[in-house]
Amino acid sequence: MPQRGPGDGTAAGAARPLAGLAAAAAAELEPAFAAIAAAEAETLADMRAVTAIPAPSGGEGARGRWFAQRLEQTLAVPAEVDGAGNVLLLWGAGDVSQPIVLAAHLDTVFPGDTALEVREQGGRLFAPGISDNSRGLAALLRLAAVLPLFPPLAHPVLLAATVGEEGVGDLRGVKHLFHERALRPAAFLAVDGAGLNRIVHRAVGSRRLRVRITGPGGHSWSDRGLPNPVHALAAAVAALASLRPASDDDVALNVGRIGGGTSVNAIPQEAWLELDLRSESADAVAQLERAARARFAAAAAPPLALETSLMGDRPGGVIPADHPLVLAARAATVHLGGNPELAASSTDANVPLALGVPAIALGAGGEAGGMHTVGEWYHNERGAAGLQRLALTVVLADRLLAVAQLDRGVIAQADRAARVPHDDVVADQ
Ligand SMILES: [Zn+2]
Repeated sequence: MPQRGPGDGTAAGAARPLAGLAAAAAAELEPAFAAIAAAEAETLADMRAVTAIPAPSGGEGARGRWFAQRLEQTLAVPAEVDGAGNVLLLWGAGDVSQPIVLAAHLDTVFPGDTALEVREQGGRLFAPGISDNSRGLAALLRLAAVLPLFPPLAHPVLLAATVGEEGVGDLRGVKHLFHERALRPAAFLAVDGAGLNRIVHRAVGSRRLRVRITGPGGHSWSDRGLPNPVHALAAAVAALASLRPASDDDVALNVGRIGGGTSVNAIPQEAWLELDLRSESADAVAQLERAARARFAAAAAPPLALETSLMGDRPGGVIPADHPLVLAARAATVHLGGNPELAASSTDANVPLALGVPAIALGAGGEAGGMHTVGEWYHNERGAAGLQRLALTVVLADRLLAVAQLDRGVIAQADRAARVPHDDVVADQ
């Protein structure tokens, strides 16, 4: 297939500033943009349909099957459900080992028995998961529908609905793609929730530990003096709270759950807690974990015993604000009337970022709130613009990544003309 690319005298000419490149690509995407705008009601109907199918992390099967069927109907190409439960469909020409991945997670934080009725009030749709990530999944379906209207791309597009993105899922689906299947795409875009402005290019890494201290236990009076696991664990937590990282890296340490014992007049036989350690720096997380483990070991002197297990491991990573993929998202955001905000978060993009694969996470338009609560809502304010931003980001990334291999200097020059003012840090999972 003929490829439009840098230096061929078309809209992708490398010498134009990014805004011009974005405007030209948007003009080529006009049929796709029009189709997105004309299908807003259908996109909202897809969000409702997705929301109605329960999909707790680890129980995404029914939602995955529905999604695979809709993708196949849309593009008349078979979709694959892989060993982990991810739904995949490859579209377009080019090197199949170097696709641009458009991913959205299938799972929600809500247990399978959560009531999922969508309620409409004051222009807002209320339902658990309606934005995170029914909006992302509906966006993927809409983009699939308009892919045939895109200008020619240098890279094929791999549509991926992933399992296990939320907390307990521990990025299981995307880890399967990158570790078991050794996927190494040209770029990875996670479509997550709502919004027109945020561009997540820094992955907050985390390690989550479950810690348990056990002992002989006994009667609070007749066995007085025996070591108490709750006392030991509490002392370790107090020591942890005053831990400071040795580096300047920003870190977070949180004991989120704690428990133990059976009765007020019994020396407990066990005490446990769950600990979340986070930073954009993998070194800082590792250092903090070593320090935390040392505190627990010191607190659990015999006859107390210590057990720790890893509940979660989300690697961190970053691509620079002037990376071609980030520049593509920034230019697309500005073109669609958004205000680019560079951000750090924890999403499916963590895994590729940790492996050095260019990755970002973007919202899919509209506004949302109450995430991860049963009061979650979505408002379709500038919803279509959000989907158009995704389409434009794909086309610009396709071209800039090709250009970048030829002339990094031109990219840097274009970046200086399109400075983004400030950073914003947010946390998702
Ligand atoms: Zn999400």
